[in-house]
Amino acid sequence: MNENYQIIEDGAVAIKNDRIAAVGKTDTITKQYSGDTIIDAEKKVVLPGLVNAHTHSSLLRGVGDYLSVTEKRVMGYIPNGILYKTEVGPMARQKLRVLDTTLRDGEQTPGVALTPEHKLQIARALDDLGVDIIEAGAAMTSEGERKAIKFISKARLDAEICSFTRAVKADIDAALSCDVDSIHMVVPTSDIHLKYKMKKTRAEIKQIALDACQYALDHGLLVEFSAEDASRSDPGFLREMLSAAAGLGAQRVCACDTVGVLTPERSREFYQDLTKSVKVPVAVHCHNDFGMATANTVAAVLGGASEIHVTVNGLGERGGNAPLEEVVLSLFKFYNIKTGVKLKKLYEVSNLVEKVTGMPVSPTKPVVGENAFAHGAGIHTHGVLEHPSTYEPIPPELVGRQRKLVFGKLVGSHAVESELKRMGLKPTKEQVGEIFAQIKRLGDGGKMVTDTELRAIVDSVMGEQFTEIVKLDELTVVSGNRVTPTSSVKVKFGDKEFVESGIGIGPVDAAMSAIRKVVEGVSNVRLQEYHVDAISGGTDAVVSVVVKLTDGKRMVTARGTNGDIIMASVKAMLNGVNHLLWERKLEGK
Ligand SMILES: [Zn+2]
Repeated sequence: MNENYQIIEDGAVAIKNDRIAAVGKTDTITKQYSGDTIIDAEKKVVLPGLVNAHTHSSLLRGVGDYLSVTEKRVMGYIPNGILYKTEVGPMARQKLRVLDTTLRDGEQTPGVALTPEHKLQIARALDDLGVDIIEAGAAMTSEGERKAIKFISKARLDAEICSFTRAVKADIDAALSCDVDSIHMVVPTSDIHLKYKMKKTRAEIKQIALDACQYALDHGLLVEFSAEDASRSDPGFLREMLSAAAGLGAQRVCACDTVGVLTPERSREFYQDLTKSVKVPVAVHCHNDFGMATANTVAAVLGGASEIHVTVNGLGERGGNAPLEEVVLSLFKFYNIKTGVKLKKLYEVSNLVEKVTGMPVSPTKPVVGENAFAHGAGIHTHGVLEHPSTYEPIPPELVGRQRKLVFGKLVGSHAVESELKRMGLKPTKEQVGEIFAQIKRLGDGGKMVTDTELRAIVDSVMGEQFTEIVKLDELTVVSGNRVTPTSSVKVKFGDKEFVESGIGIGPVDAAMSAIRKVVEGVSNVRLQEYHVDAISGGTDAVVSVVVKLTDGKRMVTARGTNGDIIMASVKAMLNGVNHLLWERKLEGK
């Protein structure tokens, strides 16, 4: 038994004023706390008091039928008679809210600038994902930004739509002009920021902040009052500022670890202290300068923070913000703390944000990285195939992913056998041996064996013929110094013909544009990655193009090799499409 847990036999928990008031023997607790919420561990049921918890006014501080985070956790663990130790600490006051700031802090990532249409597209995806609050941007920034925020406000999303503001009237007016539900008003509180950035005293900034806060509240905005650089601020002054804003009527406060200097221990204490001293919900906002943002955000929630600020893929300035996917999954897996986020949609939303922002996700990024559920080494694939938990701490399906076995020089025979079985093939032992040897040979050359190459090896060894479902019929490319590179392509799919044309910045781009269009028309397949390598030097070199394609469910890699880079690209695309179509057939769709 993990020492973090304690079993309470014949025990109960009393909840008073949003906190666990006592843990002890059922008899004693029931007597002492009659009338309050009581959760009985021993009977593995909840006493009548908890039924009231759903309507218990002290537990209903927000809109809707919220149970507090801790209470959910108590309920979650009760069936085993196990209580989580942190329940005896201060409780989060209501459901854990998720504020996504991909469109504001995330857009501050150098190199990222989104059009209003793209912002709306991401906002819809975030709403669908289940985040509670979307920080849609900073209304005062520009006309385009206001257009984007207005689009989002008018899109009738379930999420609360929020704009960033400073403690400046014009910022608040700009937010008001965009019809947002709320503002995230950020005011620096550290002496470093006050002295060097604001050139104001503590008393001056306090007055400015409270005036602005009052102005926003007077105009009907919901205010989340946020202390910038809170983690480097004087704790007394920080409490004073946040309490003053809450006293005025600000509905929530936030303390920002703006430069990412908290550690998990400090974060927990820091937010615990704030939740105790400020009377409204406290949000956590962490940056990832030391790679601590996920751990610090999780620790803050354990300390009592009831709202998390996150971005998809951890986008944000410098080292980025706390990544939504990591935080939400960690809270769920390690502490059974749920949010409204639908875990199964995490990958899809990550892909969209990667595509729209042009900020590539590292293959080794947890949860959403390309390799997060890939196994290459023989020992690992063997283990995972025997029992997934050997090397998969997260079931891939939980977050909308699939396990991927990568075939290269480290491949093991079990992976090969399993893949052949999945293909519906029944090779002999000798055939498996030969296929295995060929993969190793290709892998030894330093290459990753793509799905289409694996298929080609299997076909050649087993004497099967891989049928091309989509065939190239015609390809034309025009390029030169006075023409826009243009390409047209015709493919045959069964007895149907599909024709598309495309332009590009060069002949390859034009050809890829045309082939992409035709392929999307035929099979609803998207190109995710394109790599080109010259196999030998010189302008007559043979080039190898590797593409990664997806139909939303599956991902395949395919290669095309040719002396002509355009033909190599087109071949790679068609190889991949054929493979995907063939996989679909395999699944009987
Ligand atoms: Zn930030």
